[in-house]
Amino acid sequence: MKGRWDGGWLRRARRCRSPNFNPRPPATEISLALIHSISLPPGQYGGDGVERLFTNRLDWDAHPYFQTIRGMEVSAHFFVRRDGDLIQFVSCDDRAWHAGTSVWRARPACNDYSIGIELEGIEGSTFEDRQYAALAGLLADLEDHYPIHAVAGHEHVAPGRKCDPGPGFDWIRLADLTNWIQDPSNGGLMARSADA
Ligand SMILES: [Zn+2]
Repeated sequence: MKGRWDGGWLRRARRCRSPNFNPRPPATEISLALIHSISLPPGQYGGDGVERLFTNRLDWDAHPYFQTIRGMEVSAHFFVRRDGDLIQFVSCDDRAWHAGTSVWRARPACNDYSIGIELEGIEGSTFEDRQYAALAGLLADLEDHYPIHAVAGHEHVAPGRKCDPGPGFDWIRLADLTNWIQDPSNGGLMARSADA
């Protein structure tokens, strides 16, 4: 029987390859899952704007908001749609471009050592049951394949600059679904084994 992973690609995720990636630094331990929220245009769900942005195919003139992000070359490893559908853009073995200037537990450059997971949504609003279920399943698969021992939000690694996924994201609920525990010192969650 085939495993769940094909190298850095999760077999059950739909693949939509992004050119926006590069190698991680040599011998990097992939230890953090980083949660974001995005929708394009903001607050509009179900379209193909995010897939287009991450594959450099967004028509910048198609919506006034797109002017504010014109020319951006960004990506994440995964995108979880409102219905729980899972899309993968970049191999987890490679570095996706989602965190920007960031620090986690005094360690800079989160893109180097994290898996970027975008939830379809908007800062300050809530997320769907199916997204929590999909995220919990994804984290379980990631834990099987990589030494992930913490989950944080973009807001935790770039405070003052980034606010996603925001107060509408229920970390306690994610903790209940994953059996992880809240990380009082850093925000987000940590694996139970991390404090052993
Ligand atoms: Zn973000």
